[in-house]
Formats: sequence, structure tokens, C-alpha cells
Amino acid sequence: MSGLVIIGAGHAGCRAAEAICNLGWDGPLHLINAEACRPYERPPLSKAILSGERSVSDLPLLRDAIFSRPNFFYEQSARVALIDRVNQSVTLNDGRVIPYLRLLIATGATARSLPLQQNGYPQIYSIRTISDVEGFKANFHAGARLVIIGGGLIGLEVAATARKAGCQVHVIEAGPRLLMRILPEELEGELRRDHVQAGIAFHFDSAVSQITGNGRVEAVQLVNGERLACDAVLVSIGSVPDTAIAEACGLKVDNGIAVDEYLRTEDPNIFAAGDVCRVFTQDGSYRLECWRNSGDQGEIAGQNMVGDLRPYSGTPWMWSDQYDKVVQAAGVVNPGQEIVVKDLGGAGKASFHYEVGRLSAVVAYGSIGVVAKTVSVGRTMLERGISPNPDDIATAADLRIFLRTPATA
Ligand SMILES: Cc1cc2nc3c(=O)[nH]c(=O)nc-3n(C[C@H](O)[C@H](O)[C@H](O)COP(=O)(O)OP(=O)(O)OC[C@H]3O[C@@H](n4cnc5c(N)ncnc54)[C@H](O)[C@@H]3O)c2cc1C
Repeated sequence: MSGLVIIGAGHAGCRAAEAICNLGWDGPLHLINAEACRPYERPPLSKAILSGERSVSDLPLLRDAIFSRPNFFYEQSARVALIDRVNQSVTLNDGRVIPYLRLLIATGATARSLPLQQNGYPQIYSIRTISDVEGFKANFHAGARLVIIGGGLIGLEVAATARKAGCQVHVIEAGPRLLMRILPEELEGELRRDHVQAGIAFHFDSAVSQITGNGRVEAVQLVNGERLACDAVLVSIGSVPDTAIAEACGLKVDNGIAVDEYLRTEDPNIFAAGDVCRVFTQDGSYRLECWRNSGDQGEIAGQNMVGDLRPYSGTPWMWSDQYDKVVQAAGVVNPGQEIVVKDLGGAGKASFHYEVGRLSAVVAYGSIGVVAKTVSVGRTMLERGISPNPDDIATAADLRIFLRTPATA
């Protein structure tokens, strides 16, 4: 009997499964996971799991009760190799065929790799899954010399965790500063200062020419001739959406599986959600790689597979822990926006981004409580369409005052 099939048991796939169960669906529901374990939360991989404070079994993505529901089939170590849209079925890599009425593709993303990773040294890692972290952890101890290629959010989280563990850390960044896509200079200055004070050595405007060694990694050679002796290398240069099976069955892919506001592909029986999808709206298109977005999209896609169609319209929101501080952002940051920077009373800084005169994003870096409060107010403003005058933002003692104002046209 045909039922619902979800490919990928990350945050999007699991939230979809939960939404489907909550709506009382009692037909077959297959959740298919290429990984060899129960679904787990991914963000702690670069933080508490890497440091050893938590394990994946502490961080389940699905309640135990769901696994014991009748007609719920969880397949682990199972990769969907093929989607047959004509016969409405998926084929697993072991040859089994599962028919579907409706299908959700929630295959997420994979870590982008560097061509020089192919030189075969086992001490070159990426971090996307628990098995990646288990391998990397062997090199994670006091005194270990670590080179991180890429000063993005995950690279910096690993750098912070590594310094706490007593590793020596070099970070190689291709750009002139950190997190250029989301942090304005004033906020980046604070973040960089904290990392430098913690002992991170940064190499900006830098690229790797080769990784050398004799049976195991011994050094990273930079294009400028500098040689960084090391025991392990982490490549953290972003990720690419895992769209291969969608492309192979002829679905539209444009740096992400193309979906409409209901998270439907051009095939009305196939949905996509999370890091793998690109949402097309009247105003353009976007693809996000963050926890909140993937879960919210999963929930809406799950509901839309069994119930009335609801549009997805969440305000993007993300966080990244760095030591005892945090980066948070709500909304959409684009180059060329007008930016107002606000000091958060010595506890950090926030930037308010305006596009064509309207508030478009709020970003903050600093102590967790103050940042969370600021970005939460900013997110509410974005959700309610409130766009305060930039001069008033700069001088306001308490941002909550703006929540009492009506939305601006
Ligand atoms: C190390 C790390 C730290 C992060 N930290 C933060 C953070 O602090 N804050 C934040 O907002 N976001 C963070 N993120 C991002 C966040 O975790 C992701 O946005 C979210 O996990 C995406 O969920 P997803 O379900 O779309 O994809 P994924 O979590 O990637 O799940 C996709 C699943 O599909 C499986 N799969 C792929 N292809 C197939 C196939 N053909 N058949 C079967 N299964 C398949 C994959 O193995 C994977 O298990 C972090 C990500 C990483 C990797």
C-alpha cells in the first residue's frame, strides 16, 4: 500500500514526520535515513558533542513514541538511490522499492570539499555528521595542532571548542575578515578580538597551496609560502545542497531543489524542505542553512503532504555559539544595506539592516541573554512589519518601545 515517504531524517525530515503523526495520519509513513543511527540534533556537533559534554543519544530529534507507532517505518543506513516519478516509488541502495502517494525530499546538504582533500591523508576532516565528529575527535586533545580552513560559523565554533580543549588553532580565511556575509565590521571586530584573545591565530586573504606529510598530515602550506605545522586539518568551507536524486528524476534544481511557497516542487506529489530546497516567491528566491528554518519548513511540508496547503512564511533566524557568547541573526542580510550599529550596554553590539528604507534584518554578537533579547525584539518587528526610523533605533534605550508602534506601509 502506498503511503508517505520522507527521504532524510535530519531536522526537516523529522519535523515533517512529527507533523504528519500529529495530524493523525495512520497510513504507512517511511522515514529513510542514510546515516547509521537514530536521528539526532546537528548543531551540537561542533559544540557540546565535539567537546564531549553531550552525546547524540542525549539529543534525539524524534520522540521514542513515534518509532513504536503502527505503520511507521524507520530505515537507517538506507540511501534512496532513485525516485521514479511515473510509478511513484523510491528505490533504496539495497534494491528495495517503496511506493509513495506523497514524497518529501529532505536530504540536507553535504560539506563542500577542497580538491586537495583527495590526497588521501586520513587527518583531513569535515564536520557534517556524527561519524565525521567521531573521526575528528581522535585529534582533539590538549596540545594538538589544528588548522581550520574556512573562517565561517562552523569553522569558528570548532575553533572555540578546540581552544577550550587546549588545542593550538590556526584559522585560514580567504577573505579579509570573518563572516563577511552576515557581520558588519563593528560586530566582526568584537568577535575577532574574542577569538584572538582566546589564542586563535588567523590568516586572512590566505589560501592553501598544499597539505604535506609522510603517511599522515604534517603541515599546511599557504600560497604566500608560510608553513603551518599541524596534526589535523578541518575543511570548513560551506556546504552544498544534496540535490542529486532530485536532479536525476528531472525536478528543477537551481542551487537547491526549486519549491513554491507551499514547499512543493513542480511535481505536486513531491515536496522538499530544509537545507536542500530553494523557495521561490514573488519577490525572488532564497535557500537557507539553519536549524530553525529547516525545522519550520519540515513541519509545514509534513502538514501539506496530508492536509490543506499552508504557505511557508517564516522569518529566518539563526544562532552560533562562540565561547560564552553568541551570534544571532533574524531576517535577510544582503550586501549594500544601510546599517545602524547599536551598542548593547557593553554586553555586545547589534546591527539593524535597512533595505530600500525598510528594516530587513537584525544581527547581534555578545552575551547570550542580551543578544537573545535584542534579536527576539528585532524578529518580532520583522514579523509584524514594523520598521522604525534608523535614528530612533540608534538612540532608543529600550527597543521594545517599537513593538507598540503600528506596522509601516
Ligand atoms: C556542525 C554543524 C553545526 C551547526 N550549527 C548550527 C547552529 O548553531 N545554528 C543554526 O541555526 N544552524 C546550525 N547548523 C545548521 C543546521 O544543523 C541545519 O540547517 C539543519 O540540520 C538542516 O536540516 P535538514 O534536515 O535540512 O538537513 P540535514 O540535517 O543535513 O539532514 C539531511 C539527512 O538526509 C540524509 N540523506 C541525504 N541523502 C539521502 C538519501 N539519498 N537517502 C536517505 N537519506 C539521505 C543525510 O544523511 C542527513 O541525515 C549546523 C550544521 C552543522 C553541520
